[in-house]
Amino acid sequence: MQTLFQEKEEPAPAPETVRSVLVPFPVDKAYDYAVPAGLDLQPGDYVVVPLGKREIPGVVWGAGEGGVASSKIKSIVSKYDLPPMPDAQRKFIDWMSAYTMNAKGAVLKMVLSAPKALETPKPSVGYKKGFTAQKFSPKHQKVIDVLRDGRTYRPVELAELSGVTTAVLKTMAKNGMIQAVEIKTSAPCRAPNIENKGPQLSQDQYAAAEQLQNYVKEASYNAILLDGVTGSGKTEVYFEAIAETLKKGKQVLILLPEIALSNAFLGRFKSRFGCSPALWHSNLTPLQRRTTWRGVAEGETKVIAGARSALLLPYADLGLIIVDEEHDPAFKQEEGAIYHARDMAVARAHMEKIPVVLVSATPSLETMHNAWNGRYHHLHLKDRFGGARLPDIHLIDMKDDKPERGFFIAPSLKNEITKTLEAGEQALLFLNRRGYAPLTLCRSCGHRMECPRCTAWLVEHKTSNKLHCHHCGYDTRKPKECPSCNAKDSFVVCGPGVERIHEEVKALWPEAKTMVLASDTADNADKLRQMLDDIRDKKVDIIVGTQIIAKGHHFPGLTLVGVIDADLGLTGGELRASERTYQLLHQVAGRAGREEKKGRVYLQTYMPEHKIMKALAVGERDKFLEVEAWERERANMPPYARLAGIIVSGRDEDEVKYFARELGKTGARGDGIQTLGPAPAPFARLRGKYRYRLLVRADKGLNIQKAIDNWLSKTKIPTAVRVQVDIDPQSFF
Ligand code: ADP
Ligand code: ZN
Repeated sequence: MQTLFQEKEEPAPAPETVRSVLVPFPVDKAYDYAVPAGLDLQPGDYVVVPLGKREIPGVVWGAGEGGVASSKIKSIVSKYDLPPMPDAQRKFIDWMSAYTMNAKGAVLKMVLSAPKALETPKPSVGYKKGFTAQKFSPKHQKVIDVLRDGRTYRPVELAELSGVTTAVLKTMAKNGMIQAVEIKTSAPCRAPNIENKGPQLSQDQYAAAEQLQNYVKEASYNAILLDGVTGSGKTEVYFEAIAETLKKGKQVLILLPEIALSNAFLGRFKSRFGCSPALWHSNLTPLQRRTTWRGVAEGETKVIAGARSALLLPYADLGLIIVDEEHDPAFKQEEGAIYHARDMAVARAHMEKIPVVLVSATPSLETMHNAWNGRYHHLHLKDRFGGARLPDIHLIDMKDDKPERGFFIAPSLKNEITKTLEAGEQALLFLNRRGYAPLTLCRSCGHRMECPRCTAWLVEHKTSNKLHCHHCGYDTRKPKECPSCNAKDSFVVCGPGVERIHEEVKALWPEAKTMVLASDTADNADKLRQMLDDIRDKKVDIIVGTQIIAKGHHFPGLTLVGVIDADLGLTGGELRASERTYQLLHQVAGRAGREEKKGRVYLQTYMPEHKIMKALAVGERDKFLEVEAWERERANMPPYARLAGIIVSGRDEDEVKYFARELGKTGARGDGIQTLGPAPAPFARLRGKYRYRLLVRADKGLNIQKAIDNWLSKTKIPTAVRVQVDIDPQSFF
């Protein structure tokens, strides 16, 4: 009664004066706000709204729901001067939120990742030469000299070049010695050159490029797998699709797994289109972030190359999405909001009604499955460009061809390296393990050096002379005595990392120029670029590297690839272990012999009979994928079923365990759906938090999100415990 009475006294505002606004906070609902008189608002408009005591940005999501008393409802404060967020983007946010089970506001937060970009940029001051020809003091003369080239300089830059302070510049401008002018930071990649012709394409390339161009012209949703061996010229092919999209004045998004590894790609883009694409990744300066975000939202920036978060930018008029190396695990964001950028890219293309091109030499089983069942078009480049031949792949059975004790390079591989060096060619030794040795243990009591915060061994690094945890960044000096039995100098190292292989290489070929390439030896973009250039320019003979070197690079002098431990990824029994190992080894092998000289690849393995080793040796990718697919189907696993991981974590082990068990009791169960677990996660402790996992498996047609939502919403989660849902998990750590 009371509420009814109140409603009579305080009627809810008429619908046209209310809008719902989504705010970038982990909430699932857009809140109602009143529209002040005179403010004309469309869905998608960026606005400022009060929330609690603060004023924050938000996006008009739709007509208000109504039902809030007019005295309670707060007013929108103002509207930003920006084109509204397109319908397709808002639909995409709604969809992505529902699919990945992240709150809508949490997804919006990822979209509004540069809040300053919402504000109209203030023009800043620059200086150029003035009109007076007076006599200047030596100090002023320096400034005048710098400005003689007629360019406009930013104050800081000019001050540095002429050795004065910015205050001096200000005074000079006031006195008319130099001119102050407004400068605007313009959006990056505004006018790529579409007149440039690409190289003459091979027949296969031409056919594929033409198909892609047709999909672009059609301007409707199409998903295309561009599948071709390493070095077949896939990049040149999709460049044609980019050019076609640009001709229509539309924007292009190129998703790359690791933008730091993409220098060669950026160089090629620039030589084709006359400008670099706008970049989007976590290392931009705040100014770059702001201008790029705004450039994308206003439609000025035409091409974006970025890591997975680039998918969430508010494109004004997107015309094409390319996902290069679509199989790469880096597209899965595993922290914070968990999502797979490749899968989200396909969904986004669907909503934008545009083509999406997935590019790979080793497509993921998911993508292959979609190509087999006709959901994706399949374009295939069979041969390497320019007649370069694929390398021969040999298996070295480590049971027969044993290295000496304490060493890791088999005699036959040793021979091959020597031959390669004698021919003046380069060799790459691949081992996907950083540091010197993955395990340090005490000879007298067997104590293993482990991270105090993670379920992980500490890895010795000779460069820092410390033991490191590769999961949380913890490091410590190697103790003088064993922390468990106090024996002195009793530590021994087990197994190799790249540093240890490097030590072996230096001892075997003391004359050779060598390099270790791993994320810790190439720890910034410039250093990495320099190292890659040095390899390309043949300044090194032998490279010992981790997966950082496996991807995409083109080294003309490299003819031999040796894989130290081809079995490495196969232990642990994860769902995708075979697939991942196959992809990685295939990529590494693809670095060999990319020009006229044929490459040779040697895989050191204890399992020469394993399906992967056999498939690699005979080059039967499709057969391998078919066997893999058959096994997954038989096991009722993706892509033939759906999975979701539930990760329960917290600082108190008992609480985490107890709650995980409680969850397990009520887990989604029934026809075609099962909940497994809980079980301690393989990383039962990570960064000091205890972790338990549950796994939901459902038949393909079932709505797994709904089942999980029903289940979790019935359970009250203690505040000290965190529950994360990972839809379509890629890894199970
Ligand atoms: P992929 O992406 O399939 O591994 P790339 O596009 O990197 O292959 O091409 C491999 C190499 O061949 C590159 O150096 C590229 O510049 C060159 N290339 C590819 N297609 C052509 C072409 N049509 N004309 C000239 N060079 C080409
Ligand atoms: Zn750790």
